[in-house]
Amino acid sequence: MITILEETPKNPITLMGQRAGVCWGADIHDKEKNYRRGLDCIRSGHHRVMEYVNVEMIIDGYSARVIREWYTHIGGAPTRLQASTRYINYKDFSYTTPPLIEKNQEAAEIYHQTMNTIAEACSRLESECGIPREDAAMLLPLGMTTRIVDKRNVRNLIEMSHQRLCTRAYWEYRLLMQDIGKALGEYSEEWSYLVNHYFVPKCEVAGYCTEKKSCGKAKVFSAVADILNKQPAMQE
Ligand SMILES: Cc1cc2nc3c(=O)[nH]c(=O)nc-3n(C[C@H](O)[C@H](O)[C@H](O)COP(=O)(O)OP(=O)(O)OC[C@H]3O[C@@H](n4cnc5c(N)ncnc54)[C@H](O)[C@@H]3O)c2cc1C
Repeated sequence: MITILEETPKNPITLMGQRAGVCWGADIHDKEKNYRRGLDCIRSGHHRVMEYVNVEMIIDGYSARVIREWYTHIGGAPTRLQASTRYINYKDFSYTTPPLIEKNQEAAEIYHQTMNTIAEACSRLESECGIPREDAAMLLPLGMTTRIVDKRNVRNLIEMSHQRLCTRAYWEYRLLMQDIGKALGEYSEEWSYLVNHYFVPKCEVAGYCTEKKSCGKAKVFSAVADILNKQPAMQE
């Protein structure tokens, strides 16, 4: 469901080191040195260099709801195209079913029936009432799956992983983040290194949990807890 496009460089760390080397008057034609310089930059927290590495990918089969959350990650001006809701074939529209619903027979029946009713209503609005498809599409659910072509830099993706691999994140987003990490990890050795070391939840970066409702994996830093206890939690 994640396709990494060939415009994504196979050697992200080397590329970072090459860009940094320009500013240091270094030999940017030596791949080994570029790689080591890139690694140094990342480890030292000079993360501006990550903005020279773009990831272009097709994200397909996740719900419109999770993609709506995906769009909140705006650092570095990412861009994307999304499948139109104007040309959709209602009879075939597919949707995500949350695991908790899937394994509850009664809930699954209600859920699937509702999806069928929506598909049928959209169809009838168009065929029986002459309503244009773009208006009937207002009924489409957030659970409907969609496809996007996405382009963003790796600094944005790493920041995103800190938020979205956290157990407080929506389950489908955690899954999406893991799928992206897997696809990138398989793309090349340098990507595998980046994913394994830097695609981590925010508690692993901070050394403590910053969430009000902690999963307990990391300790909540007491000063942070005091502040958070006085504020309402966000519920995306
Ligand atoms: C558990 C959870 C619950 C949530 N609940 C809600 C909710 O109820 N409603 C809702 O709307 N959203 C919600 N969100 C989404 C959240 O508020 C953010 O929109 C989302 O995490 C993306 O923002 P970001 O700062 O993490 O990432 P990015 O936008 O990718 O930003 C990464 C970093 O870049 C920098 N940056 C980005 N943009 C700017 C800028 N304009 N100016 C200066 N620096 C910038 C900042 O340092 C930022 O930390 C929730 C997220 C989580 C994980």
